[in-house]
Amino acid sequence: MSNAKQVVFIGGEGIGPEVIAETQRVLRWLVAERRLGIEIRDALYGAEAWRRTGKTVPDETAAALRSSDAILFGATGGPDYDALPPEAKRQGNLLRIRKSLDLFANLRPIVAIPALAEASSLRNRVLEGVDFVILRELSSGLYFGEPRGIESLPNGERRGVNTHVYTSGEIRRVARFGFELARSRRRRLCSVDKANVMEAGRLWREEVQALHDAEFADVELSHMLVDNCAMQLIRAPRQFDVLLTDNMFGDILSDAAAMITGSLGMLPSASLGPVGADGRRPALYEPVHGSAPDIAGQGIANPLGAILSLALALRLTLGEPGAADRLERAVSSALATGVRTRDIMQEGATPVGTRDMGDAVLRALERAA
Ligand code: NAD
Repeated sequence: MSNAKQVVFIGGEGIGPEVIAETQRVLRWLVAERRLGIEIRDALYGAEAWRRTGKTVPDETAAALRSSDAILFGATGGPDYDALPPEAKRQGNLLRIRKSLDLFANLRPIVAIPALAEASSLRNRVLEGVDFVILRELSSGLYFGEPRGIESLPNGERRGVNTHVYTSGEIRRVARFGFELARSRRRRLCSVDKANVMEAGRLWREEVQALHDAEFADVELSHMLVDNCAMQLIRAPRQFDVLLTDNMFGDILSDAAAMITGSLGMLPSASLGPVGADGRRPALYEPVHGSAPDIAGQGIANPLGAILSLALALRLTLGEPGAADRLERAVSSALATGVRTRDIMQEGATPVGTRDMGDAVLRALERAA
């Protein structure tokens, strides 16, 4: 059997296949040029998989997900997915894939790119030097808690229920990941909760503090209420190093933080599971954005969030930190040439589509080679 690392690409719906195609082109270039020991394959998922095989997650895809070292995922959702029959959606979806691989740690680096300062709604002086990571708990909390559902009440009203629930073990494992991450950065971790009104929030705060005191006293820990955090992200984002959040708070805060980078289309993410008996850690990399049905099929989506997700995969899973640094530099240098997709457009820049932006990154890689 080959020792090569296995990377599976899944386009998904909407702009997913468009941004994933550029990402795969970039990886193929790196593999050929640097002779990286990486094997690439495609897998079907979602609406297209249903049309072609009668399953949203065909058996071949399920097997590829289990055996791969890294999954590069585009996006899911939108009209094609919504039109699927309920049994198709129940059968398999992104939340289930994340759950089945136990992907509990979702990393979303937020770095202000100087060339994009004009695309941000924030001022230059607020953006300067911003470099932090949102670490979002991804496998529990409000999006998975039971009971959940919509019920009809005897008085004719309807009632919607979701449950915000965390165990101490779930909190501690993501907090541990966060403290270790902080140790590899500036040794500062800010934990976000709503401990003033939610019991699960109070437990969150107590458990994070207890783990800190027992094992990570060398990391500077602070706690922040989520409403204040939303404001601080816009007011003074430079204060953060590692921002630890639960599932829902991280979902919302990271979209707000996207404005630091200028567009949702710029943000990469990594979702990691626990290290298995074979020493491997399940890993799924995807841009933070969704399927963007409003621009799908037009060739104008920004592929940089997906391409930067590949950089995270190279660094965190594929054992190629040098290639990761190089790719991130190539993205900055492509932007410095003035090319812009519509979402990050600014006066005087050259408007380009998805494919042209992929070309610009490849040219930047070639220039640096
Ligand atoms: P979205 O991220 O798809 O789009 C929000 C806005 O940002 C849109 O105006 C879109 O055009 C723009 N945008 C997003 N990515 C872009 C890119 N790469 N380049 C240029 N512009 C970009 O969020 P939404 O509209 O709230 O959701 C659309 C669908 O995506 C929904 O079905 C939702 O459930 C799904 N979704 C999926 C994921 C995922 O696959 N992980 C994440 C979020 C939303």
